[in-house]
Amino acid sequence: VTSRMLDAQVPRNMEVQGGKSEDRVATLRAIQGNDKCADCETGDPEWASVNLGILICLECSGIHRAMGVHVSRVRSLLLDSWDTSLCEVMKTLGNEKVNQVYLDTWPEAARESGINPETPRDEKERFVRAKYEERAFMSRPKGDRESLNARLLEGVGGESVLEVLRLLSQGADANVAETDGTNAMMIAVRHNRPTIVELLIQSGADVSACDHLGRTPLHHAAQCDFDDVARTLVARGSSMDTRDCYGKTPLDVAAGSRGGAAFEVLVKSMGLEVGASEGTDNLSDHASPDHTGSPTGSSPPGTPLILPHPTQGAMG
Ligand SMILES: [Zn+2]
Repeated sequence: VTSRMLDAQVPRNMEVQGGKSEDRVATLRAIQGNDKCADCETGDPEWASVNLGILICLECSGIHRAMGVHVSRVRSLLLDSWDTSLCEVMKTLGNEKVNQVYLDTWPEAARESGINPETPRDEKERFVRAKYEERAFMSRPKGDRESLNARLLEGVGGESVLEVLRLLSQGADANVAETDGTNAMMIAVRHNRPTIVELLIQSGADVSACDHLGRTPLHHAAQCDFDDVARTLVARGSSMDTRDCYGKTPLDVAAGSRGGAAFEVLVKSMGLEVGASEGTDNLSDHASPDHTGSPTGSSPPGTPLILPHPTQGAMG
């Protein structure tokens, strides 16, 4: 069930970063601390927890999987497909930084007597569960849940992916929203933070949540014309069909935004062509099975798209 859930999160047909899986393994193992399992220090880890941003060994990956996806989302470095934003989360975090969060009250001396590759599995499991489920080796957060959530809403617009991970690990809600429905993901989108958007999604944030104007995170990406965040949201199943309170889909909004980069991402993901009559590349080969409908509701999939009237300004 776990691997099927993960497959749903990351479609198999997505672009693979760095081509071969060997390249990806080499890149990610070069991150500080990633030459050994984040938990038991077994060398050359081949598994990852994508919401925690760490590499782990086969045995610890089984323990992580047993804790459930609300604690840890396990993927194989070699067997699973990876895309750019998922790799970016892994590259930005890594074992050393993340252990500073999860083991920050665990003194260096005690680490020497911690688990190692030879530790029996049941002992490893006790340690791993204490570390991530009970957060037994983390300092207690300052302030209550409400103040953690407020700090998350502020942090997601910033540059520190590690700070966002820290707040989430301390119990901040990945779906927290301001009173007008603007949630953490929308703020990250509007600050063009694809890696933070990805981390929020892997931490359980809902890509389909709407603000008080009925806009999803994808509407916001379209309005800002941020193609990287749009690509991440589309890859994680964000709906193309949701209409905001003005009746606009994300594609309608993208058609009215300035550069057109997000528009191209959306059109491509729907298997349509961008201005085929103007001699641009035919993009219909990239048809996604999930989005074969036409935004106009009348043309068959693959029909050259006729640009709707610009909608800039309609969303305020
Ligand atoms: Zn391990």
